[in-house]
Amino acid sequence: MALVSTKEMFEKAYNGGYAVGAFNVNNMEIVQGITDAAAELKSPVILQASAGARKYANSIYLVKLVEAAVALHPEIPIALHLDHGADFDVCKDCIDSGFTSVMIDGSSKPFDENVELSKRVADYAHEHGVVVEAELGTLAGVEDDVNVAAESAQYTDPDQVVEFVERTGVDSLAIAIGTSHGAYKFKPGTNPHIRLDILEEISKKLPGFPIVLHGSSSVPQEYVKIINANGGALQDAIGIPEDQLREAAKRAVCKINIDSDLRLGMTAGIREHFMAHPEHFDPRQYIGDGRKYVKDIVHGKIINVLGSENKA
Ligand SMILES: [Zn+2]
Repeated sequence: MALVSTKEMFEKAYNGGYAVGAFNVNNMEIVQGITDAAAELKSPVILQASAGARKYANSIYLVKLVEAAVALHPEIPIALHLDHGADFDVCKDCIDSGFTSVMIDGSSKPFDENVELSKRVADYAHEHGVVVEAELGTLAGVEDDVNVAAESAQYTDPDQVVEFVERTGVDSLAIAIGTSHGAYKFKPGTNPHIRLDILEEISKKLPGFPIVLHGSSSVPQEYVKIINANGGALQDAIGIPEDQLREAAKRAVCKINIDSDLRLGMTAGIREHFMAHPEHFDPRQYIGDGRKYVKDIVHGKIINVLGSENKA
């Protein structure tokens, strides 16, 4: 199977009551950890690159790494997606260089400007067989170049979604219903929750239309503990409970973005390795342990959050 777009993935996910995981990739070991887990569980998967990832690794490396994963795992559908495209040019660049899906993030702009920008990207993408995700509403939190204070975050207004989708022609829509970017989402003792009622309202207005959730890491405490027990100093923080994400996945949510949890896994594996083997200096040994935890986390997400096992 070649690299695919998310069109068919989302149709099946919508009708099957599950979601496809969109995991951020920055290097070879992360690509391997994610796709090894997805292949073992026969799950479709979306690999996504942010602006920060493209700056760190170079877009050409990322495209080629993902193509290698596709060649090694022909039995599962794999899509390559641009996460948070900031303007038309970065989306065009990715469309021209082999991405099968792009996100244009005009969510910080006024409604009409967001419509205009998202439509321009959608028109260009569709001419090239690429699908487009846009965003309406704003999430709090920090993700690479995206930084939104909690007080400026806004839930998506269900009364705007039909007009937005009709005017732009986008293929999926990221909405803000209580998730948040980054590993420090919520303080312990708070009660983070997804507004499933807003999701229901939106999906009633857009029947059959795929919805996307950003900022959906759960900040697994077992990995935070490993990091802090091995010389780390992460603050206490909690994420979105996995059972709530599972509920969203059963509804119109077809794509769930997960980044921070993989970072925690990679860091936990490397820290644990160095504490146990301070004499080691071969990167294959310690990054290999990080890769193992990335794979374990994706495995858990597919089973407990996404429900996408055996859907390839
Ligand atoms: Zn995001």
